[in-house]
Amino acid sequence: AKRMPKPEHTRIITISNQKGGVGKTTTTVNLSTAMARAGMNVLVIDMDPQGNASTALNIPHPPGTPSIYNVLIEDEALKDVVYDNPETDGLIVAPSTIDLAGAEIELVSLVAREQRLTRAIQNYSKYREQQGLPRLDYIFVDCPPSLGLLTVNAFVAAGEVLIPIQTEYYALEGLSQLVKNIEMIQQHLNPSLHISTILLTMFDSRTNLAVQVADEVREYFPKEVLDAVIPRNVRISEAPSYQQSVLTYDPSSTGALSYREAAMEIAERGPTSA
Ligand code: ADP
Ligand code: MG
Repeated sequence: AKRMPKPEHTRIITISNQKGGVGKTTTTVNLSTAMARAGMNVLVIDMDPQGNASTALNIPHPPGTPSIYNVLIEDEALKDVVYDNPETDGLIVAPSTIDLAGAEIELVSLVAREQRLTRAIQNYSKYREQQGLPRLDYIFVDCPPSLGLLTVNAFVAAGEVLIPIQTEYYALEGLSQLVKNIEMIQQHLNPSLHISTILLTMFDSRTNLAVQVADEVREYFPKEVLDAVIPRNVRISEAPSYQQSVLTYDPSSTGALSYREAAMEIAERGPTSA
């Protein structure tokens, strides 16, 4: 197999789309696992109160579990809320709990409310360096399906945005709102933020509609859309109920193959530029 190149600096990639059910969490879980299995050091930050990424990565997260909630609201250190993924070496997870549902409101009255995740990541990187732990190659942030303060924190902390787009009806609906929000963050809070990657998900090559939507997205974002496309694949949807990524659940499935391809392409293209 081809060797995956390590990035020069830690790449922080926020996975966002305010639509639910487009494959944000699935993409977070499977890309991060693919990266770690290719030898990268990877951190996943679960910013969705639903905690689906935490579940799929086999991190139990009942209410009260030390989680990203405590980091954002109570200034707890990220180092104290990260857990090793049991299936894959080099993959660590900052889980969310349902407590995070209140954070959207609680953040409003806090100092530097948009920068809380940024600070936490900076402190954690320093801590790793002091401890002699390997530098993180990738940090993936899984967002809730909204553009509130949790997502704003994820945009401010990241260098890159990855947008998963489901190749179905209304795929492009809401996209201009998302792009506008990202531009606003870029202007006011984080000049280096840019959309580096668009991933087409749940693609069914047998339907004209999916092909049409894919063409349309490629026309709109010619540089950002990956060549790799994620097909609709039942193994992908089964894996989370076994607390697994599709890469560990069924490594030879087309789902696993496509996420490995997407991960390699992201690594080889590098962070691109703002
Ligand atoms: P989001 O995080 O954007 O809400 P999810 O990643 O949770 O979306 O995906 C929504 C649902 O679709 C989940 O049940 C997931 O298992 C399923 N799913 C995602 N990607 C695929 C795929 N490529 N093939 C089949 N099912 C998928
Ligand atoms: Mg999700």
